[in-house]
Amino acid sequence: MKTSEKVKRVKKLQWGEDFPYPVVLSEYSAKRGHKILFYNRAFSNNFVQYKGNLDKTTLEELLGDYFKGNGLIVIYIKNSPYCVINFSISKKRKLHLFIEEKAWLRFPQWYHTERLASLGKLAGEISHELNNPLGGILLYANMLKEELPKSSKWADLVDRIIKLTTRCKIISKALLDFGKPERAKKEWINLNEPILNIYDIIKDYQIFKKIKFTFDLDPALPKYYANQTQMEQVFLNLFTNAAESMKGEGEIKVETKAKDDKIIIRISDTGPGIPEDILPYIFDPFFTTKKTGKGTGLGLSICHSIIRRHSGEIRVETNPSGGATFEIILPLPTREALREDGF
Ligand code: ADP
Repeated sequence: MKTSEKVKRVKKLQWGEDFPYPVVLSEYSAKRGHKILFYNRAFSNNFVQYKGNLDKTTLEELLGDYFKGNGLIVIYIKNSPYCVINFSISKKRKLHLFIEEKAWLRFPQWYHTERLASLGKLAGEISHELNNPLGGILLYANMLKEELPKSSKWADLVDRIIKLTTRCKIISKALLDFGKPERAKKEWINLNEPILNIYDIIKDYQIFKKIKFTFDLDPALPKYYANQTQMEQVFLNLFTNAAESMKGEGEIKVETKAKDDKIIIRISDTGPGIPEDILPYIFDPFFTTKKTGKGTGLGLSICHSIIRRHSGEIRVETNPSGGATFEIILPLPTREALREDGF
């Protein structure tokens, strides 16, 4: 196979607002004790994607034409960013390479930092504004509940108002926590629980009414040290996206299992899947393909940030039937780690 077939230029990006990666990468490398030997704005024009078998490829083969200039390469394996290669050629034609294996997993966080900081502030303000009216609704609904006889046909509806308003308060609090990871309290939980809790709350929502949920949940799933509310938020976002992509009709399959010291959670839908050209961006804050007013572009970036805070990964792939499958991988702590943490 010719290199040109394997290495494909994905997008010409503008330096600056559009594409802060090289700046971030230089900071990243510097922080890791790497010296940036050669640094050039032209980097941003050499953003390429490699799809192929890394084990069977030499770097020269991999870089091909790009070997002649300076650049930044992101290697994708099965559509998941695997490593970043930052390279430059000095005037003496000496090649300087910085290869950061799996760096991308930390990388988006760096890149998100600035945007997240302002987003966290905005989210905090919105959450603050929402909390008071929500508190009021909850108070009045509780007063109403006390006034109603238990046998009243309205009692069930008032209970629903209370349940849903409580959910809104939880979401609004999650928004407040968004930029402040240290706030979330974690405990040992069975991750099947947040999945079923959220399902119980949303199953009667209009958008989910014609969706068939199938659960294949491992009854012996080991407990995970997690924040229950945040995990509920992740499943709520993924279920909502799946339902919206299927326009309210189709199937959502949820699977949990423990494998090789990891908990794996897969959520698949029978929607149209995610076009390859937008795959690298879907976890970015504010990235949405939904109509103005419909999507915020925050759902997946919140999921990503929560899962990262739980030391895990979230990725997406297209399933054979064409829909999207989101996979969450959470590493189970080793006995040593547990002992060190005093468990
Ligand atoms: P929003 O839902 O507000 O658009 P998200 O961050 O949750 O924001 O999602 C970003 C984009 O990712 C969506 O606009 C959509 O294009 C795509 N997406 C997310 N989940 C799915 C899915 N299950 N199927 C198809 N596309 C999806």
